[in-house]
Amino acid sequence: MNDTVLITRALRFAAERHSSQRRKGQAKEPYVNHLAEVSELVADATEGKDVNLIAAALLHDTIEDTETSSDELVATFNNDIAQLVADVTDDKSLPKQDRKHLQVVNSRAQNMRVKLLKLADKTSNLRSLANSPPENWNTEQKQAYIDWAIKVAAGLKGVNPWLEERFDEALRRAQQALQQTTNRETHVSQGDLD
Ligand code: ZN
Repeated sequence: MNDTVLITRALRFAAERHSSQRRKGQAKEPYVNHLAEVSELVADATEGKDVNLIAAALLHDTIEDTETSSDELVATFNNDIAQLVADVTDDKSLPKQDRKHLQVVNSRAQNMRVKLLKLADKTSNLRSLANSPPENWNTEQKQAYIDWAIKVAAGLKGVNPWLEERFDEALRRAQQALQQTTNRETHVSQGDLD
């Protein structure tokens, strides 16, 4: 399969599988926006040289969040792409806290390409937290997400300085956005005392 055909096939496959899903944030963006963002980060970070990794970025949430099996990814794409997606897929049979802990523990042991994909995913998620946080999350939940993302990212560093800068930038923006909401909340509660 030629590279352009591969990427367009991955995009269509991902768009179809995630068609009914939206991001958790207040803007409720179509889920495919997240996939497009992660794949662009991976493409820029690798200067477009790793086509399987770019396709895997488009497909990275299909096994975890849609009715898609690894065998299907092998049949539709190839072994390498299916393996990359499997490597960034959490075991959903485990409780959420265990899955989050495992991401921290496992991040250091991943190969370079998996680390890159994971760091791009975390960068996109932090950007979303800054621009369009989930409406039902309180300050503690947002802070906990940021703290966790920092721990996971610590194990993903040393692979791609450009992407690490994007991550750090997204982290700063998420922290600033949280600081602003906290200030506003403090202001409102002090106002209530008057
Ligand atoms: Zn993702």
